[in-house]
Amino acid sequence: MSAKSPAAPAAGPRTPLVAVAGNPNTGKTTLFNRLTGSDQKVANYPGVTVDRHAGHMRLPGGLDISVLDVPGTYSLSARSREEEIAIQSIAGLGGEAPPDLVVLVVDATQLSRNLYMALQILELEVPLVVALNMTDVLESRSESIDAEALARELGVPVVSISALKGAGIQELERSIERTLTNPKTALPGPRWTPESTELRADLDRIADSMPPDWIRGSPTRARALAAWALLSVDAPDELHGVPDAVRRLALERRARAAADGRQVDAEIIRGRYDWIDSRMGTFVRPSRRGRERSERADTVLLNPWLGFPIFLATMSVVFLALFSWSEPAIHAIESTFGWVSDLVRGAMGPSIARDFVTEGLIAGVGSVVVFLPQILLLFLFIGVLEDTGYMARVACLMDRIMRSMGLNGRAFVPMLSGYACAVPAILATRTMERQRDRTLTMMVIPLMTCSARLPVYTLVIGALFPPTMLLGFAPVQSLLLVLMYLFSTVLALIVAAVLSRTMLKAPSVPLILEMPPYRMPHWPSVLRQMVQKSRAFLSEAGSVILLCTIALWGLLSFPKDPGLEARRDVLAAQVATLEAEASTPDAQARLDVIAAEQADIAGQQLRSSYAGRLGHAIEPTIEPLGFDWKIGVGLIGAFAAREVFVATMGVVYGIGDADEESATLRDQIHKEKRANGEPVYTPLVGLSLMVFFALACQCMSTLAAVRRETKSWAWVAFLFAYMTALAWVASFVVYQGGRLAGL
Ligand code: GDP
Ligand code: MG
Repeated sequence: MSAKSPAAPAAGPRTPLVAVAGNPNTGKTTLFNRLTGSDQKVANYPGVTVDRHAGHMRLPGGLDISVLDVPGTYSLSARSREEEIAIQSIAGLGGEAPPDLVVLVVDATQLSRNLYMALQILELEVPLVVALNMTDVLESRSESIDAEALARELGVPVVSISALKGAGIQELERSIERTLTNPKTALPGPRWTPESTELRADLDRIADSMPPDWIRGSPTRARALAAWALLSVDAPDELHGVPDAVRRLALERRARAAADGRQVDAEIIRGRYDWIDSRMGTFVRPSRRGRERSERADTVLLNPWLGFPIFLATMSVVFLALFSWSEPAIHAIESTFGWVSDLVRGAMGPSIARDFVTEGLIAGVGSVVVFLPQILLLFLFIGVLEDTGYMARVACLMDRIMRSMGLNGRAFVPMLSGYACAVPAILATRTMERQRDRTLTMMVIPLMTCSARLPVYTLVIGALFPPTMLLGFAPVQSLLLVLMYLFSTVLALIVAAVLSRTMLKAPSVPLILEMPPYRMPHWPSVLRQMVQKSRAFLSEAGSVILLCTIALWGLLSFPKDPGLEARRDVLAAQVATLEAEASTPDAQARLDVIAAEQADIAGQQLRSSYAGRLGHAIEPTIEPLGFDWKIGVGLIGAFAAREVFVATMGVVYGIGDADEESATLRDQIHKEKRANGEPVYTPLVGLSLMVFFALACQCMSTLAAVRRETKSWAWVAFLFAYMTALAWVASFVVYQGGRLAGL
């Protein structure tokens, strides 16, 4: 933007410019209207349709000022035009007049997130006054914020206001006036500086290339702008007004950092949040009324006798809801993908390309999306439990048990998340301060029964165990499923106990948890959390699952035997003509014969495929567990991502697209015979298979996440080795033990 901004000071003695900035919906416009009354103008920012509200007012001491309502943004990167205008208005770049003071409107109910921008503004060395808004809401929630403590830590004035009710506005105006007339004391400098020397070097190099009118003689500001450029340079939009030299350098430094495995974004963002999070406890205080109410609730919820039953009941409700609520969505997703696949199959002629699209691509995307309902729901429940303040009590209740296993009380939430998906769960370990606690938690999270194991359990239980009742009232199939969940949980605790006494020995630190007051959940932040966690699943696990499904399709489909291919096409054509005929008994009989031959061809194709050969190659190692080479093919696929197993078994048994509830796949599993005529699948084999899936480390995405969070290949290797060894031994014991017992 090179056009002169409309609010540029008029000639003569300059009117100080005050910019009202903050996150969206924090009450900026409400405050702006209170300050300027009717004395305001609306225009557009040059070249964009973003409204630019500017006005005038006289402060209590008689000072006249211009006021600008800056568009709301969560941070000052330039990922949208609003954000770009926000940084330009605050830092005074790109033709915007530099403000003499920024009033940052902070939503007191969202303090941590709102303070992020405060730190950015301090780094830019722009005089700042924090208007702590929505304090009326805070009071109704029985909380209060220690504005003095906040002012002390930030080094700038903090004034509690309610823009809506008009409370504290005078005090704010006086504070603005004091700061404007005394600008030197208003520059406390940055609250965060990069920890790593590499990042510091990156920032300093970029800072050197900044034009002087950006830096204004302040090295701090130059570094802040460098951090801004580094964070924004991969934005989809161009960085308007940023000199080419800066942009090039930022891109180059970013690429170099990425090549070294450094994540500059994460380091900068986390550095600022660490500063905020480590002080939140001193800023936020529950009010006396809220404290008393919470204390009364805690006499019940933390009661040694009542606390646990209530906790177990809560968790049971959560898990029941998790399964029953997700079911309709899962069915809808499956039928949608089935429908799309049929549509594509109909539209494309028979070819490898068609098979790739339907069996590789569409099936792959479908197998990722199908997990979303459960993952979204679990993170919704966790979010609600955290936001109401109950999770802190749970951590406190569980602390004794967790600590006796060597785990940190804070490991509870990540381990609970592991029931949905290990990848976001591993990211959730970041709430723990000690790396040792994080590593230990990461080593056991993959044992939790994630949603990818569920289709496998459902298939095996449905096919091999009768739908009868135990003792007349307990359904055997459901009991088995519950048993599998318990099994993995108990094993995770045992493994934690062993590791914490051997490889990860460390003095246990008592959990110091601040008990937040109970309150109604704040839905916007619950939903945001839910979306963020699910996005972590989609972007990290999702892409790996998709790639593996496609790779597996290739392994299963090649090499092609031209003879078999030709025969298959002939049969397909015959089926088409027969189906077009009237459904005479004769046509039906011929269709059955053809179907048998088609299944036979699929079997031959599989045996000669790369995957089939691999299955044969590993057969000797899995035979002692009761598995044959066909299960081996499924296991190979499952090492990339577990749920691939079900689809693979469908291909192995020549049943187009199988899911865990498909009756044909269950029948086929029932009928499958060994060479000596014994059935391949017995309940004992099923049990052995489930135990194997419960324990084996079959998830590339988990390994990738552990590598990133521990920065160590050794831990990745250890995780893979111990889990897979444990799985093999446990399945061996189950199968051979069962055989000895005559099962
Ligand atoms: P902006 O997006 O930052 O400009 O925020 P607005 O000024 O448009 O306010 C967003 C919403 O918050 C509106 O519904 C306001 O009425 C409300 N609001 C603003 N200040 C307060 C406050 O101090 N207390 C309460 N309870 N609501 C407020
Ligand atoms: Mg507004």
